[in-house]
Amino acid sequence: MRQRRWYGIGLLVAVVALVLGAGALPAQAKSTNKTVTFGQLTNKNTHRLAAIRQAARQQILKQTHAKGSRVNAVYKVKLPTHMTKKATLTPQGLRMNLLANTFKVKQITIPYTQLKGKVGNRYLPKANRTTAIKTTKMVALTFDDGPDKTLTPRLLKTLKKYKVHATFFETGQNVSRYPKISRAVVAGGNEIGNHSWNHPNFNSIGTAKTVSQVTRTNRAIYQATGSLPQYVRPPYGNITAAEGRAIEQPVIRWSVDSRDWAYLNKNKDINEVMKDTRGGDIVLMHDIHAQSVAAVPTIIKRLKAKGYKLVTVSQLLNSQALPGLQYFGAHDYRTVGK
Ligand SMILES: [Zn+2]
Repeated sequence: MRQRRWYGIGLLVAVVALVLGAGALPAQAKSTNKTVTFGQLTNKNTHRLAAIRQAARQQILKQTHAKGSRVNAVYKVKLPTHMTKKATLTPQGLRMNLLANTFKVKQITIPYTQLKGKVGNRYLPKANRTTAIKTTKMVALTFDDGPDKTLTPRLLKTLKKYKVHATFFETGQNVSRYPKISRAVVAGGNEIGNHSWNHPNFNSIGTAKTVSQVTRTNRAIYQATGSLPQYVRPPYGNITAAEGRAIEQPVIRWSVDSRDWAYLNKNKDINEVMKDTRGGDIVLMHDIHAQSVAAVPTIIKRLKAKGYKLVTVSQLLNSQALPGLQYFGAHDYRTVGK
């Protein structure tokens, strides 16, 4: 899956050509638009096509300045599922025509920044292409079950003090209670992911209820922050293959479990994380326990002393996480439900 087949020629050559050969050309610029199929854009990879649909939903909401109450409706908009369907590469982004929908939008243009790592590099401007990264000295800290009224702001202060970022998998229930704190999480340069509405076990509630848990939480996060979250972390890490396909968001698991909820002990948390963490790891902690939040300054200092850079999940995965796949670390991912 992670083969890098995307070597190709740049697209915006025409701009340079225009400037060089300008002379007495009329003011109207030569079109740099190009029609492509989704098969070309995604190298016929259905996970990549699902990622384009995910970006399209965000763009529909953004382009129509939609209220949070419209998030459910955006999942009902018909979006391309066939590789033979076409879109247009424009200087502003990927332009797609939409079928009739309740947003009354006929056309959207997804900025290339939203497509980084999702479509072939050859179709992206240089600034938005993925380049190989070394993850041997990168670690992603993740915090679940928040936001908490006092502990999450305390943790944000710590992250700011040490100039590092983390990823927060929040429940919709808590986001709707403390939207300001979710906004502060994002404002601090951190990332927010979806951790269900109220923490059920997806394996035992079925696909329809799982989708509703995820959508309702996406709505709360959109209402709080203005963006749909990219990732879902299912409670207990449990999710079936069918649910994974239905939610159309990448699933983020972990490779190091601090077991902080069981210890509720600052020093044990520190030891557990330090004993197991290596480059490329995703570390699971919870920002609803005071002991866990109290352990973070020492964990950050010790990881930094070992030369690790603390990054968000998107940075660790080089923006390449795709719907239908679950990620345990920088180099460990498989199909959801497998
Ligand atoms: Zn949880």
